Amino acid sequence: MEVQEELAGSDFIRDIVKADLAAGKYAPQAVHTRFPPEPNGYLHIGHAKSICLNFNIAAQFGGLCNLRFDDTNPSKEEVEYVESIIRDVRWLGYDWQDRMFYASDYFERLYECAIAMIRAGKAYVCSLSPDEIRSYRGTFTEPGKNSPFRDRSVQENLELFERMRAGEYPNGAHVLRAKIDMASPNLNMRDPVLYRILHESHHRTGDAWCIYPMYDFTHPLSDAFEGITHSICTLEFEDHRPLYDWALENAGNLPTRPQQIEFARLNLTYTVMSKRKLLQLVREGFVRGWDDPRLPTISGMRRRGYPPAAIRAFCDRIGVAKKDSTVDVALLEHCVREELNKTASRYMAVLRPLKVVIENYPAGQVEHMQAVNNPEDPASGIRQVPFSRELYIEREDFMEDPPKKFFRLSPGREVRLRYAYFITCTGVVKNEAGEIVELRCTYDPATRGGDAPDSRKVKATLHWVSAAHAAQAEVRLYDRLFSVEDPDRDGAGESFLDRLNPGSLETLCSCFCEPALAALQPGASCQFERMGYFCADPDSASGRPVFNRTVGLRDAWARIQQKNPD
Ligand code: ATP
Ligand code: MG
Repeated sequence: MEVQEELAGSDFIRDIVKADLAAGKYAPQAVHTRFPPEPNGYLHIGHAKSICLNFNIAAQFGGLCNLRFDDTNPSKEEVEYVESIIRDVRWLGYDWQDRMFYASDYFERLYECAIAMIRAGKAYVCSLSPDEIRSYRGTFTEPGKNSPFRDRSVQENLELFERMRAGEYPNGAHVLRAKIDMASPNLNMRDPVLYRILHESHHRTGDAWCIYPMYDFTHPLSDAFEGITHSICTLEFEDHRPLYDWALENAGNLPTRPQQIEFARLNLTYTVMSKRKLLQLVREGFVRGWDDPRLPTISGMRRRGYPPAAIRAFCDRIGVAKKDSTVDVALLEHCVREELNKTASRYMAVLRPLKVVIENYPAGQVEHMQAVNNPEDPASGIRQVPFSRELYIEREDFMEDPPKKFFRLSPGREVRLRYAYFITCTGVVKNEAGEIVELRCTYDPATRGGDAPDSRKVKATLHWVSAAHAAQAEVRLYDRLFSVEDPDRDGAGESFLDRLNPGSLETLCSCFCEPALAALQPGASCQFERMGYFCADPDSASGRPVFNRTVGLRDAWARIQQKNPD
């Protein structure tokens, strides 16, 4: 797997792992990590950070990494999400071999642990309503109050818990709670709920259960069942760590004692990363689906044309830290460009066409011009591009009355057509409304291939396509989905939805591209010379390709780095 080469580097988590290995803490067992998504949405670039971290640490230290679905909330989880997560982790380049697990596989075992806790006097059935539980919990400044049900006998607790499982009570009638300390300064330790009643079908266990274990109970025990050594999670779980350890300590005999380690989650400028908000964007139609190329979802980035290697390189570059921060989305785009520059074949495509007729070029003649596929990759070879009397060039490459700094085509001016000839504009054809609809030009036959024998210079090189040979294409240009850097910030009655960029998608329906592009497979990437990196969209129908612009050629990150070298 390519991932190996990206394994170098160290950080505070790898330091902990190294120290544990040196001390023989888990010996003879190797390092064992897991990626534990809840199947209640599609994965995003933040998850990619966690995926790369967990799988790369395991690979770096000769260990294993599991994929585990944390599927304990049937009201929000769906098979569609499970399938998308499997697809996305694989696509990122990682392999869990035969170790794909579900927390729901452990429901019986978790239930046994709960029974053991009740027997040991560490858990009780509480019959306060959810509101009462909340008000008994206290606040950061005030201790909580004991539940009046806290001192139920073990016998009574066992009986009630069994009847909860048997479906004798409605949702909310009882919960199972840990018996820890209602006065703990850590609110998570104030007798947290371990199980709740939920009469809801589960996507895997069907109607077998009507009580479901809570995350803080399920997660540490699932880690222990799987022999996880380092349970890496995001910073918001730091305050849950005492409960994580408490659960492991009080669940009976467990094979291993995993260690929870927290790191800062990834935030990106111009991006929302909360699954709840992404779900809202999808459900309410602000985007076209979970794989909309404007979303930071893995499926969106795949459709947009981000190569998995670029996402891995990005995750590697941002590293892991203990302090929350926001990464400039320009860095992600920079990594995408770096990868595509190496791998994407170049083509010519005209997005906003303007017809050019070369008056001294014989009608009906076709020449095939040699074009380099990728100057960064000599092995990619060359291709033939048809040239003829009628061409399209980019509308913005012509100005009838150019300002001083405009060096491209204008009346009387000579420019180079890439791989072809020098042409000079001799006339402009307009429609009744006065709009330019066609240019008249002449070419110099002595400049074939793009160089003049008298070494006369031109100031611009334009891309073009032969009108008779071009394939018509639809091109979708994307801009940031949000028009502000921090769409999540609090602001006077405004929500993130008010900060959507109305110009985030521009669809161009009559673009013309080299004929070879019509055969590009959906998902394949290329560069349109001068216009950016693009990829063929699954919407491409035979003969009518659709392209997504992955990223433009101008590198905002490189400019930032030039200004502030570190
Ligand atoms: P929620 O739990 O609210 O549904 P979540 O984003 O935490 O959302 P999970 O499916 O629980 O989603 O996440 C799976 C793993 O990915 C967790 O270990 C989580 O810590 C990690 N993760 C989620 N978001 C990020 C992020 N932005 N950066 C890094 N890791 C993340
Ligand atoms: Mg989570």
